[in-house]
Amino acid sequence: MTGRVIVITSGKGGVGKTTTSANIGSALAKRGHSVVLIDTDIGLRNLDLLLGLENRIVYTLVDVVEERCKLKQALVKDKKNPNLCLLAAAQTRDKSAVNAEQITKITEKLKKDYDYVLIDCPAGIEQGFQTAIAGASEAIVVTTPEMSAIRDADRIIGLLEAAEGIESYKLLINRVRPAMIRTKDMISVETLVDTLSCQPIGIIPEDTGIITSTNRGEPIVNDEKSLAGQAYMNVARRIDGEDVPFLDIDKPKDLMGKIKKFFSGLKKQGKEQ
Ligand code: ADP
Ligand code: MG
Repeated sequence: MTGRVIVITSGKGGVGKTTTSANIGSALAKRGHSVVLIDTDIGLRNLDLLLGLENRIVYTLVDVVEERCKLKQALVKDKKNPNLCLLAAAQTRDKSAVNAEQITKITEKLKKDYDYVLIDCPAGIEQGFQTAIAGASEAIVVTTPEMSAIRDADRIIGLLEAAEGIESYKLLINRVRPAMIRTKDMISVETLVDTLSCQPIGIIPEDTGIITSTNRGEPIVNDEKSLAGQAYMNVARRIDGEDVPFLDIDKPKDLMGKIKKFFSGLKKQGKEQ
């Protein structure tokens, strides 16, 4: 078998690459696929924290590369999904501890045993980025609807276009706030997609539940009631080839919101009469 190797990248830091990696990885595993997540953010590892696996790490990616252990020994099984495992980043200061050739060797081995190999990329467009994309043939570009993130996503798309091994890439728009789009304080999803001329694979709302889930070490896809969790689940379904419409994330969540929407509807009806 040959699994798919997908890199989650962005250019700008803090836009949600690690959150996306943890959630898509968990979602694909929940759908019955075997998945391995590789954290290539050397020195700043945090994919382990998001999965609540930080105390279970014995060996890291650097240990595998430097042959201190076998690849299998470094794979940490997720607590929730037996189909999911993590190859953690080392906390060494030396960011060049792993190179493109070494990571490619690892992904080549892993894709023989796993349906999906997801690579969480560090921020920036330098060596760490080139290393992270080396073994991948697909990419997900994460951005938020902010100018600085969009500009960096644009540069990343240029680099992905030029990268030999990357056959396709899609856009994931994170931290979308419909209320701000309505008041024109945030760029709309359509404009963003047009600007980057990149097909979207996910639209994830801003959700405080993501912060609490991060602190609990449990990805939000495990919470079926969460809108962000459902949006991430849908990303996994699209990766799997399903044609899934985008969620309506513009739902008033609280009772006050519902009441306001009700009265504004009544007002509108009044005007029309
Ligand atoms: P990156 O890996 O790109 O640096 P992270 O995934 O670590 O970004 O996310 C950065 C911060 O943003 C984290 O504190 C995370 O909890 C928060 N965050 C990410 N996505 C969302 C979202 N949709 N809603 C709210 N907070 C989010
Ligand atoms: Mg990260």
